[in-house]
Amino acid sequence: MHLAFLRDYHEALVIALARTRPTIERGTVAEITSLTPQAVSKVLTRLLDDGVIATAGVRRAALGKPAAVYRLVPESRWAIGAHVTRRALRLVLTDLAGTVHASATTALPADFTPDDLLGRLDSGVTAMIREHRLDDDGPRPLIGVGIGMVGPLDQATGTVRDAHRLRHWHDIPLAELAGQRLGRPVLVDKDVTAAVTAEAWRRDAGFRDAALIMVESGVGAGLWLNGAAHRGTHTNAGEFGHTVIQLDGPACACGRRGCLEAVHDRAADPAAAAAILGVGVVNLLQTLDLGHIVLAGADLLRHGEIYRQVVEDAVRTQVPRADWLTAEVTLTGLGTDVIAAGAAIQVLNLRYGLPDPVGLRLP
Ligand SMILES: [Zn+2]
Repeated sequence: MHLAFLRDYHEALVIALARTRPTIERGTVAEITSLTPQAVSKVLTRLLDDGVIATAGVRRAALGKPAAVYRLVPESRWAIGAHVTRRALRLVLTDLAGTVHASATTALPADFTPDDLLGRLDSGVTAMIREHRLDDDGPRPLIGVGIGMVGPLDQATGTVRDAHRLRHWHDIPLAELAGQRLGRPVLVDKDVTAAVTAEAWRRDAGFRDAALIMVESGVGAGLWLNGAAHRGTHTNAGEFGHTVIQLDGPACACGRRGCLEAVHDRAADPAAAAAILGVGVVNLLQTLDLGHIVLAGADLLRHGEIYRQVVEDAVRTQVPRADWLTAEVTLTGLGTDVIAAGAAIQVLNLRYGLPDPVGLRLP
């Protein structure tokens, strides 16, 4: 058991390097990971056999023997991710590198039921499998299906507790129901946590403490702390929109007053809304000392550059000692696919990523 874990861990280390660099070779992998060259050779051989990496020629050095060069084979593994909003179901197909190859969006009826969603999920996933000739054990293996869902939800059991403003979603075991319907394991997580995982999968190890701020029918934050998704005690971390920023502020859907989301949604224009979001982001930086803020969500991306500039200004002018406590503010590179892509990448991450100390689990 211990040895099996160790082998997978070494494979995950090598895959993580191959994912974020054009090519890898034995010597540099050994140097970066502190594995012995012999251990690296074994891992490379196994990954070659599994088709996860391929040879990409040799590098001739001025001194010593030529070194074999390898690259990741992104098309060797596939995953499907679903993004459930209050209005629509978006499905994407990603490869092992996290690149989106296909997407499809289906409208959901107003105040949809679990059955409404499961029917559309089933037909959408089935169509994607057929169209892209995915299989379980053949040349184009589908590793699994992930769902990014509005919360609050319990990731560990895949149970949606009370999706905000969806009446029929009270204590619904979505992972179990979807797994039965699709006949394969399904991973469910909060939309924001899926999204921040997508960002992290595509960045290098420098992306260690970060938040993905989502504005899309609500405000939330996916947290990436110490190099892993942070879910919290009840796996419901990220209700950033329901932190109070104005004690006598407007009533919020959650029952409190003056939540960031309620104040933000009532702003006069995108710049004013972005300034309110900026206050929240500075609060988050003061609490967590993050290095990266990624802005995402369909509502935010409609005015993406305004939000990016205003939030960056807030970070530069409102964080005390901002000259030292710097944080990079960017827009997501995955656009409106980020949640669905993240849900797919979480499935790949569970199988091929580094072990997650928070313990992402298939129910
Ligand atoms: Zn609230």
